[in-house]
Amino acid sequence: MKQVARQARAEERPAGFVPTMGALHEGHLSLVRAALAECRPVIVSIFVNPTQFGPQEDFQKYPRTLEADRKRLEEAGVDYLFAPEIAEMYPQGFRTWVNVEGLSDRLEGRVRPGHFRGVTTVVLKLLSIVQPQKAFFGRKDAQQARLIQQMARDLHLDSEIIVCPIVREPDGLAMSSRNAYLNPDERCAATVLYHALDGARRSMERGERDALRLVAAMREVMRAEPLAQPDYVELVDAETLEPVTRLRGTCLALLAARIGTVRLIDNLLIEERDGTFLATI
Ligand code: AMP
Repeated sequence: MKQVARQARAEERPAGFVPTMGALHEGHLSLVRAALAECRPVIVSIFVNPTQFGPQEDFQKYPRTLEADRKRLEEAGVDYLFAPEIAEMYPQGFRTWVNVEGLSDRLEGRVRPGHFRGVTTVVLKLLSIVQPQKAFFGRKDAQQARLIQQMARDLHLDSEIIVCPIVREPDGLAMSSRNAYLNPDERCAATVLYHALDGARRSMERGERDALRLVAAMREVMRAEPLAQPDYVELVDAETLEPVTRLRGTCLALLAARIGTVRLIDNLLIEERDGTFLATI
């Protein structure tokens, strides 16, 4: 992989990179298409990164569909699939970790201690191997994207970090490899995350600017779904990830909930431009 990447740089071809954990769906493919529109070669990695899973989490049973993924990427026109082994990424004696302080211990990081340390470490390792001109991430994992942008800035990485929109199922559920775990009742209940966010979007469009009231309304929607156990419902500043009391600048409404045993996350982006607010779900 390093040799391929070195060759592309020597030929001044701008490499685009899409890191994934596989079990690919349209969300991943939207990143691939964004990369293909701007870069050549396009490199996709598939690596189920053990260090970002907690001891009680789903590392062992995380869906692995490498052959089907490989076919989809080939059909999409991807140039290289990079699927390293765990022993290559974490050889014996591995000791170096990346931690984005402050941003990594709230929201997802509070519920999943150590998760972001695993994410930022593996992403830095992948970026150092591939050294792409542009790397593409989904806003589906908004906190992750924010941390990676911060890491890229703090460590003077040469790769531009590009954040792409959330791809949803027709009923609004954000696409996720973990949706495959949902049974039919849970699949139905899972749209509650979207409905809570969409309700906030609509009341914001009717003029609501009070973040506490927006959060309370989202919690209410979540509470009405008996199969959903929320981990957090927050409205935060998109830069600091600190809770806000009123909408101002760029904010994120972030939700995490367990639907049965399946943990799902989703978010709404709220941007202020010249005094008007625009919400993107
Ligand atoms: P994962 O395989 O879950 O680690 O995701 C790999 C990349 O795909 C991450 O940057 C995710 O944010 C992105 N991604 C996952 N689901 C979606 C989605 N529904 N829409 C857009 N991007 C997504």
